[in-house]
Formats: sequence, structure tokens, C-alpha cells
Amino acid sequence: MKVPRVEIRIEECKGCHLCIAACPKKVLESSGCLNNQGYIYAKYKGDGCIGCGICFYSCPEPGAIKVFKKEN
Ligand code: SF4
Ligand code: SF4
Repeated sequence: MKVPRVEIRIEECKGCHLCIAACPKKVLESSGCLNNQGYIYAKYKGDGCIGCGICFYSCPEPGAIKVFKKEN
């Protein structure tokens, strides 16, 4: 898959949307959908991530965001 990119684990997300506000490239958005916990989870728009990791550090939920800077 294309890198850099970000993955958000839907069921770990608590819908605070801090990552959306923090992303300098504005490539994260609200999904508009509820996960099984009842939170409106964030999602990657699918293009434009630069792998900076700011979303990862802004997220209060361990494991909700994974940033891929290179293929692994
Ligand atoms: S910062 Fe974390 S918990 Fe908050 S919306 Fe983004 S992925 Fe979800
Ligand atoms: S790694 Fe950086 S550019 Fe990519 S989604 Fe997170 S904050 Fe945005």
C-alpha cells in the first residue's frame, strides 16, 4: 500500500477528533459513522499523508492511530 499513510483502528477511536484538528495536511476527517462503542470515528481521506506523526501524538487512545512512514 501507498506510504506514508495513516490507519485508524475504528473500534479504538473515541471520536474526540483531536487528530483531525492536529493534522497539518488536513487529511483526516470525521467518518460520520458510529463504531460499536457509539463514537463517531475519524478516518483517513486516503491521500496526502506525509507521515509526520502529529496525529499519533495528539491521540489520547493508545493504539487507535498507526502511522506508516515506509513499507513494513
Ligand atoms: S484523536 Fe484518536 S480517539 Fe480522537 S478521533 Fe482521532 S483517532 Fe479517534
Ligand atoms: S501522519 Fe501527519 S499528515 Fe499523516 S494523517 Fe497524521 S498528522 Fe496528518
